[in-house]
Amino acid sequence: MLLSEMKVVAPGSLTEALRWLEEHQDRARPLAGATDAMVRVKEGQWRSPIWVEIRRLPELQRMDQADGWVTVGAAVTYGRLLRSELMAQTAPLLAAAARDVGSVQIQAMGTLGGNLGTASPAGDTIPPLFALEAEVGLCSRGGGERWVPVESFFLGPGRTVRRPDELITAVRFAPQAPGERWKWQKLGLRGAQAISMVSLALRLQPGFARVAFGAVGPTVLRARKCEAWLSQAEAFDLATVRSIAQMAWKEVAPISDVRASAAYRQQMACALLERGLREVLAV
Ligand SMILES: Cc1cc2nc3c(=O)[nH]c(=O)nc-3n(C[C@H](O)[C@H](O)[C@H](O)COP(=O)(O)OP(=O)(O)OC[C@H]3O[C@@H](n4cnc5c(N)ncnc54)[C@H](O)[C@@H]3O)c2cc1C
Repeated sequence: MLLSEMKVVAPGSLTEALRWLEEHQDRARPLAGATDAMVRVKEGQWRSPIWVEIRRLPELQRMDQADGWVTVGAAVTYGRLLRSELMAQTAPLLAAAARDVGSVQIQAMGTLGGNLGTASPAGDTIPPLFALEAEVGLCSRGGGERWVPVESFFLGPGRTVRRPDELITAVRFAPQAPGERWKWQKLGLRGAQAISMVSLALRLQPGFARVAFGAVGPTVLRARKCEAWLSQAEAFDLATVRSIAQMAWKEVAPISDVRASAAYRQQMACALLERGLREVLAV
C-alpha cells in the first residue's frame, strides 16, 4: 500500500472517533503519532483503508493523579512523559523507559497508546506498566469504558483484547512509593535508536518485588518466582542476588531472531536482573 493511498480522517472529538471505528470496524484503524504505522504501511503489513487520527483529541491528553490512581492519556507522547513533574514523582520507572525510546523525533510523535496498540513484546513502556500493575482503559460508543489489567490486555505479538470499535483512552496505576527502589534497563544492538533485545523493569520495597521482562516472550512477562524470592528474602548479599537472578533463566521464553539468539536473551535476562539488583541494593 502506498502512503498516499491511506485515507486519514481527523475527528474533532472522542465520540466522533469512536463512531468512525464502530461504523467501519476492521476497515478502520486508529492513527496516533504514526511512528509505527508509517513503517508498517510502507512494508505492506498494515493495510487498513481508513485511518482515524486521534493524536490531538483532548480526551486522550490527560496526565493526572486522583483517588489513588495516576492516569496517563493514550495520546500522551514520550516527550511529555519524560518531562512531566507528575511522572517524575509518581512513575519514574515509566519516565525512564520513555527516555530510552527511539530519538528525540520519535519521542515527540510516538505515544503511550501507540506502544500498547502495536503490542510488540519489545515495546519499551510495557515492562514498566507490567511492574506498575497498570490497567488499560478501552472505550467504545456502545459499551462505554472498561479497564483491563495490562497483563490481560496482550494476547501475543501484535494481538490484544481491544475490539475494532474500541480506542485505548488511557492507562492508570497506583503511584510508586516514595523511596521505593527501582531500575529500568534496556539492552539493544546499539546504544541509541535500538529496539530492545531484552529489557527489564524492576521495583523493590521491603516485602514487595516486581520484575517484568520485555522481548523475552510472546508478550512482556513477569518473573514471578524471582518476585517471590525477592519479597521473602530478609537480607541480600551477593550470593543471594546471584541465585535469584539466575532463576530468571527458566522464567523467560525467548525466541531467536535477527537481533539475538534465544540462549543469549536468556543469559542477558539473568545478567540485567543481577546488575539491576546489585545497583538498587548496593551489593
Ligand atoms: C526510528 C524508530 C525508533 C523506534 N524506537 C522505539 C524504541 O526505542 N522503543 C519502542 O518501544 N518503540 C520504538 N519505536 C516504535 C514506536 O515509536 C512506538 O511503538 C510508539 O509508541 C508508537 O506510537 P505512535 O503514537 O506512533 O503509534 P501509531 O504508529 O500511530 O500506531 C501504532 C498502533 O497502535 C494503534 N493505536 C495507536 N493509538 C491507539 C489508541 N489510542 N487506541 C487504540 N489503538 C491505537 C494504531 O492503530 C496502530 O496499530 C520506534 C519506531 C521508529 C520508527
